[in-house]
This record gives sequence, C-alpha cells and structure tokens, in this order.
Amino acid sequence: MGYQKEHNCPQCGYQAVVAGGPDAGMRRAYTLTISCVTCQELHDVEWLEPKYTSRGDGVAFSWRQRKLRCPESPDHEWEPFEGRCPVCSGDLSVNEEGAGVLWD
Ligand SMILES: [Zn+2]
Ligand SMILES: [Zn+2]
Repeated sequence: MGYQKEHNCPQCGYQAVVAGGPDAGMRRAYTLTISCVTCQELHDVEWLEPKYTSRGDGVAFSWRQRKLRCPESPDHEWEPFEGRCPVCSGDLSVNEEGAGVLWD
C-alpha cells in the first residue's frame, strides 16, 4: 500500500485524501495525482503498471506506462497536481495527522 494524505483547502473547504505526488503501491502500480479541471477533483491515477513477460529463459519485468486521464471520463481536462485546490486554486494545506493512510 502506498500512502495518502488529507488535503484541505482553507479557502473553500475542499477536502481530498490523495497521495499528492508520485506514489508506489506494493507491486501494484505507480500512481500520480492529477487535478481535474472539469470535475474539480483531485484523483490518484495509475501511471505505471508492472508487466511480466515470459521468455525462454525466465520472466522479463518492465513497467508499462499508461496514458493519464481523469478516471471519470477521458474527455476531462486535467493538469498535474501542484498543491493547489482544484476548485478555487488556493493553496492546499496537508493534514499530516488527519484521516490519511500512512506508512506503518
Ligand atoms: Zn474529471
Ligand atoms: Zn479551494
């Protein structure tokens, strides 16, 4: 499991629990946080996927890169998350002790 933190907007009250950057899940996938302009939400999206290919002498491992898109719709416009609120563009504050999912 990777880790996610609670992000709060002091201006408009928006709240999201996201990784806030590149994050590595356990053998699952790398995720990246995007800020969707269309639905005004932050999303952790899968970015790199582990890929195992069997070959004659064993198994080859590589990362497969996915096309980034909003999970709601491929037509949504989004930008990389840079710490700003997707609703009002204010600076988000990160609650380190909040409802985030933390490392052990
Ligand atoms: Zn969206
Ligand atoms: Zn806001």
